[in-house]
Amino acid sequence: MKKEELEKYEKLLLKKREELLEELKISKSQFSETTKDATGDLSSYSYHMADQGTDAMEREKAFLFASKSGRLLYHIDEALRRLRKGDFGNCQNCGKPIQKARLEAVPHARLCIECKEREEEAKAGR
Ligand SMILES: [Zn+2]
Repeated sequence: MKKEELEKYEKLLLKKREELLEELKISKSQFSETTKDATGDLSSYSYHMADQGTDAMEREKAFLFASKSGRLLYHIDEALRRLRKGDFGNCQNCGKPIQKARLEAVPHARLCIECKEREEEAKAGR
């Protein structure tokens, strides 16, 4: 994939990430009020966090995974990690390049359309 293309997807991912962090900050402040378990500012969440794995970070991750936007944030961080590793845009299952139209719509896509469909079918039990 060309450098300009990667930059475009990185921008898309970072923009989406900002939006999610905003959303999560709002839901987290509501969450903290009821549990009195504030573990720092979510905006400091970095995508290197998952590599560090302390207790506070495990809790943070548990919180993130409790919401749909949190899970989406995780997938976006994974995509950014792949982008920096130079592994972006390839299907994580079959290794073929993911269709451009799919990446435009879902820049954090992990699978190509064929593999995605197969996965959905497996989930549906067909
Ligand atoms: Zn595939």
